[in-house]
Amino acid sequence: MSSVSFRCPHCGLSLVSGERTWSCPSGHQFDRAREGYVNLMVGGRLAGGPSGDDDTMVRSRRAVFEAGCYDPIIDAVGAAAKASGATSILDAGCGEGTYLARACAAGAEGWGIDLSKVAVRLAARKYQQCEFAVASVYRLPFADASFDAVIDVFSPRPFDELFRVLRPGGVALVVTPGADHLARLKALVYDRPRPHAADDTAPPAELVQRVQFTVALDDVVLRRQLLEMTPYWWSTTDERRELVERELTSVDADMVLTHYRKLSSPSMPR
Ligand SMILES: [Zn+2]
Repeated sequence: MSSVSFRCPHCGLSLVSGERTWSCPSGHQFDRAREGYVNLMVGGRLAGGPSGDDDTMVRSRRAVFEAGCYDPIIDAVGAAAKASGATSILDAGCGEGTYLARACAAGAEGWGIDLSKVAVRLAARKYQQCEFAVASVYRLPFADASFDAVIDVFSPRPFDELFRVLRPGGVALVVTPGADHLARLKALVYDRPRPHAADDTAPPAELVQRVQFTVALDDVVLRRQLLEMTPYWWSTTDERRELVERELTSVDADMVLTHYRKLSSPSMPR
């Protein structure tokens, strides 16, 4: 029996899983979707507020991952999760679920949340061994100290909240773009590409791994999908899109996998 559970977004009590619903002792109920996930965003989103990655972005990301293009970073996260000995792992901002599934391949139980319902639906459909919910990274639907490891890949990083759900001694594995990430793609999309900004809100790191690899893009469809899985997609003109499809025969990925340890010392972040 799992020691982790979703927490009721109304009253904060633990939700118990039934066949078709998650329910709390106060009587709040949340339907389990056909694909198995649960929507824990209450009261809907504010109009114009963030709704997470859209269908095109999510499906393209899934296609690029299934083609093996991002295996070096997905494997690096998986290896770090396995090495940590974690038996319970949360992916905060899990997207379509591939990083979480790989991180849990050694047998850990996996929990994923994302703001994007289309992403969570796709994740739940493919990775039925994990639990998924629509929820915000800023308000994780879990009790304090629930997880041995938390993954955060290219998602917002509210460290207080990530550390809150981590057990003392647990590890947060955070993936961010390195300075040269997808530089060639950015150069095709923008006249004056800006480098990725450094993160100055992070706590001290235990270990920093730079993961760099070249993605071969022989296939035109794959080139478009790589563009579509990035935020550049939204601001790309048709002309630039065609340029990418014609010229992006390969691209260098540059990512940073940072390990943060939650210590038991009271001076450390919760
Ligand atoms: Zn409740």
